[in-house]
Amino acid sequence: MPFRYKGYAGHYLEVDLTKGKVNTREMQEEWARLYLGGSGVSARILWERTGPQTEPLSPDNVLVAATGPLTGAMFSPSGRMMFASKSPLTGIWAESHVGGFLGPEMKYAGFDLVILHGRSPKPVYLFLNDGRAELCDATQLWGRETNVAATMIREEHRDPSTEVAVIGPAGENQVLFGSITVDFYRAAGRTGLGAVMGSKNLKAIAATGSLAVEAHDMDKYLQANEQEMAKLSDPLWTESIASLRKYGTTGLVTMINEIGRLPTKNHWTGYYEHADDIGPEAISKQYRIAQEACYGCAIGCKYIFRVKDGPFAIGPAGGSEYESIMAFGSNCLNNDLASVLYMGTRCDLLGMDTISCGKTIGFLMELWEKGILTSKDTGGLDLSWGNTESMAKLVEMAAKREGIGELLALGTRKAAERIGGDAPMYAIHSKGLEASGQDPRAHQSVGLTYAINVRGADHLRSLSSLEELGYPEVIIKRFGKEKYEEIKKITSPVYKGEVIKDIEDLYALVDSAVICKYGTMWPPVYYFETFINVIPPLTGMDEWSSMKFVREAAERICHLRRAYNHRLGITRKQETLPKRLLSDPMPTGPAKGGLPDLDYMLDEYYTKRGCDLKTGFPKKETLVRLKLDAVAGDLESRGLLASN
Ligand code: SF4
Repeated sequence: MPFRYKGYAGHYLEVDLTKGKVNTREMQEEWARLYLGGSGVSARILWERTGPQTEPLSPDNVLVAATGPLTGAMFSPSGRMMFASKSPLTGIWAESHVGGFLGPEMKYAGFDLVILHGRSPKPVYLFLNDGRAELCDATQLWGRETNVAATMIREEHRDPSTEVAVIGPAGENQVLFGSITVDFYRAAGRTGLGAVMGSKNLKAIAATGSLAVEAHDMDKYLQANEQEMAKLSDPLWTESIASLRKYGTTGLVTMINEIGRLPTKNHWTGYYEHADDIGPEAISKQYRIAQEACYGCAIGCKYIFRVKDGPFAIGPAGGSEYESIMAFGSNCLNNDLASVLYMGTRCDLLGMDTISCGKTIGFLMELWEKGILTSKDTGGLDLSWGNTESMAKLVEMAAKREGIGELLALGTRKAAERIGGDAPMYAIHSKGLEASGQDPRAHQSVGLTYAINVRGADHLRSLSSLEELGYPEVIIKRFGKEKYEEIKKITSPVYKGEVIKDIEDLYALVDSAVICKYGTMWPPVYYFETFINVIPPLTGMDEWSSMKFVREAAERICHLRRAYNHRLGITRKQETLPKRLLSDPMPTGPAKGGLPDLDYMLDEYYTKRGCDLKTGFPKKETLVRLKLDAVAGDLESRGLLASN
């Protein structure tokens, strides 16, 4: 039966890389209705096709490249797509989202998502164009850096509108935090999905298309879209949006340092006295040359920079985000801005996650300081804090897995296990993913976010900006006046379980729709009503007009991703923080003395999520309520359900 919902391209692609076969299939209505797209549909596919037996870098692993109904559908900001798989870095759920132009182009080429499995006998890339898909020879592309390979693909098809997701030498060498670079300087950075592509001999996915994506009721959809976009112009958000336009995420360097949350010296503290040297004004004055935006985005937070001369000359290139600046800057006690921008860009070109790379370098620097690593281990490299020459060499060595780069390529958790002794004490990760740019000792709910995030210590599944930036109207509207005083305190754990559960649900829809987090996370303009407003006229899925249905869809996606991880051994014991962030009070800065009360917040979160307090496992009735009966049955047979 033909797929009846609109707003989707209506087809997905099955790619068997071992056999070199591509098969186009009708989108499945149940996927769209119950999981929307992107993260939700990927969770359903990966739940069914991968599990404890799947080795992440084997042909058995499955990689999904997905869009959602809002991708490229004139909603702002919606130039997004995502990848999902089982992570080689963490061994659990992996997903990574990226902006630019490829997501819309994939839909206009006729595909909502692509499911890849197997391993090609030789390097290939997948090319999508107006309903056709082919695997093309990538022998000449193998070994090339991402910008060179993407340019060669564009030239081969004589079409500058061809958009490309490509891995670099790091992904080919299966660096565990290998990333996927999209549109030259945007990255699906986290959880090592570039290594999964490399293990499959898949160099790139490229798309160009001219097929129309229809709306169920175009007039109503345009009207709904206009209403939602008009919200962005509310004076309440003027300052936040102006800051995003002026500085992009680099503005966060100053804001986050001011509250003592900026990871500094491998998270020893949250305050960096030289933050201004690597902050937004310094970037603007010295290196920023232009502003840009992803497809159809009314916010436009991206920028182009150039370091003209000196040892770290590079560019013009896409500007480093806050996270990359933190990772190679304050985290390594490095206030040489040119070197920070240089290393971020080298990571994009080599295809490595800047956060994991910079954080693992910071970890090795601390081991050097403690005498756990010596020049015998580093091949003569001096890993003193802020040694930019050594840091730049480490970036190249990691991509090649050369010398100490072999250790670095494992990420903090596995590198610490290999080194042994006290090394694991200094590995700042949760569930194997290096912590992103927030210190939970300065902001309670960040601790909970890091602990429960399905992909590890990262901010993008449930970070709350509500208490940090103080949006009283939003807090009161969403959670009630009586909770306002406690919620707005970043140092109070009270109600943070409720807030984080709510935001995790909301972001699950954002990641399934698939749109950018800006406009939802910061400033917090879009909420559940947004999906009720735009999804039915776009798709014709009437059930999405009901708040109950929308809320349940969000919960369903969260529970399915959690169930995926339970099957891989994740329990409350793993939903925690590294010792430094959990029990060493913040030593300096505005958050001095701070510690997260994780147990308190976890209890509240599990209660709100419908899970067992002791194990974190879901209750059977929760899963049944969310139409996840088969998932409940599977978990029950493995003893992974809450015991009532
Ligand atoms: S807000 Fe920034 S990252 Fe998001 S879509 Fe717009 S330009 Fe891209």
